[in-house]
Amino acid sequence: MKTKSNLHSHTVYCDGKNTMEEMVQAAISAGFRSLGFSSHAYTGLPDDDCGIKKEKIDSYLAEIDMLQKKYGDRIRLFKGFEIEGMVPYIDPRLDYSIGSVHVLKTPNGIRPIDFTPELFELTIRDFGNNVWKLLENYFDDVVHFAKTSDYDILGHFDLVTKYIEKRPLFDVEDPRYLEMAFSSIDEIIRAGKIIEVNTGAIARGWRTSSYPSVPILKRILQKKGIVTISSDCHSSDQIACFFEETERNLVELGFREQAELTSTGFLMVSLC
Ligand SMILES: [Zn+2]
Ligand SMILES: [Zn+2]
Repeated sequence: MKTKSNLHSHTVYCDGKNTMEEMVQAAISAGFRSLGFSSHAYTGLPDDDCGIKKEKIDSYLAEIDMLQKKYGDRIRLFKGFEIEGMVPYIDPRLDYSIGSVHVLKTPNGIRPIDFTPELFELTIRDFGNNVWKLLENYFDDVVHFAKTSDYDILGHFDLVTKYIEKRPLFDVEDPRYLEMAFSSIDEIIRAGKIIEVNTGAIARGWRTSSYPSVPILKRILQKKGIVTISSDCHSSDQIACFFEETERNLVELGFREQAELTSTGFLMVSLC
């Protein structure tokens, strides 16, 4: 496995199962050089059960410092948040951030897109049962977020396809969908964002391949976009889930490098 880092990980500070220390130990066992913590940021949105509580932010950051001291001879730890498009959280103490859109504003209120397939279907209903309206809103929000926020890594770009293998609510090969996805990813590359190749939905049994899908990855390659592999893990046993397969797939498509965060910022490292 060439990938020696994972910047997308969740712990008990948000909706993950393991403590930070358990994640550090798993990352060391996986042979990582570094690990980034990316708790769901504080949003203040009603019904947000995933984001870190405001009063826990200081201890979250202090615990990373403490673990860095304890395990510093074996691994470099980074402070991050997965920030939400609708309410971007900015904190100068962070080393990096991931920008993701998990919720959309619908005519009937704020609705999730990746919580359960049933809730995703309800969100479609809130867009007048028009999945194309939902997709249009999602990609508009993703692009707007990329243009107006200085986060580093775009999270799971085509999250709207999370349940597509089990519930084909739209056709991912439909030219209308691909046109939306391609024009959005072009804007995101122009905005200078690193694009995450996220294996999280494979680990959770929803998908058989990583985000973004192959046609979008080909577009990223064609437009000279920068990628980074991450597992979006919510438990320590998933820390490097499907990394080898994902590296192989990226190399087969023509990618040769990915971005890795280091003490001096993001650097390109070989995938093969
Ligand atoms: Zn996410
Ligand atoms: Zn995540």
